[in-house]
Amino acid sequence: MKDKKIDNGLSMKLISLGDVEVGKSCLIKRYCEGSFVEDYITTIGIDYGVKKVPFNDTKVKINIFDFSGDDDYKPIRTKYYSDSIGVLMVYDVNIKATFDSLVKWEKEAEKFGLDLTKCVVVVMGNKTDIKKREVKADIAKEWAKGRGYKFYEASAKTGFNVNDGFKYLFNTMYTKTVENRSKYVY
Ligand code: GDP
Ligand code: MG
Repeated sequence: MKDKKIDNGLSMKLISLGDVEVGKSCLIKRYCEGSFVEDYITTIGIDYGVKKVPFNDTKVKINIFDFSGDDDYKPIRTKYYSDSIGVLMVYDVNIKATFDSLVKWEKEAEKFGLDLTKCVVVVMGNKTDIKKREVKADIAKEWAKGRGYKFYEASAKTGFNVNDGFKYLFNTMYTKTVENRSKYVY
């Protein structure tokens, strides 16, 4: 049986992955509407912030670790993969190389202890407002589907699909966390 009080202490971890400059930080900032507070980890290649999201009659803390895609920060980044329940994987629809890189990001995550099959993964093709498309939506969607990931195209600049993508991500993270927990709480 679930106990509502426990929800008050619930927190969930989200990480963002993808090449430098694809728009990870802008997407997160756009969704969090200024409430994303940059904290101390900025200097080591990770922006950290807490977003409180209401679910039912409680608020749940989402710890967001927004990774820099820069390889200079790889040794630090690799320490932060574990325990994530949500993964935001971003590429730029106008630069095919950033889409091709997603496989590299998957490998890094798995190598450093994250089982992506147990996470909620959202793939976002960002910057749809720039009309120099190199990655077709169908191709990216198929790729994501084959791996059990949810797919959205979006634009941090115009806001297109940003809320829908994050709502799906957070709702599914929440459901999954509650389901996992109910296996152990009686
Ligand atoms: P990150 O390195 O993945 O975190 O990328 P940033 O969020 O720092 O964004 C990199 C650059 O892309 C910045 O100059 C942003 O202003 C720009 N940018 C991010 N999202 C969009 C978008 O949806 N459309 C356009 N036109 N520019 C974007
Ligand atoms: Mg960034």
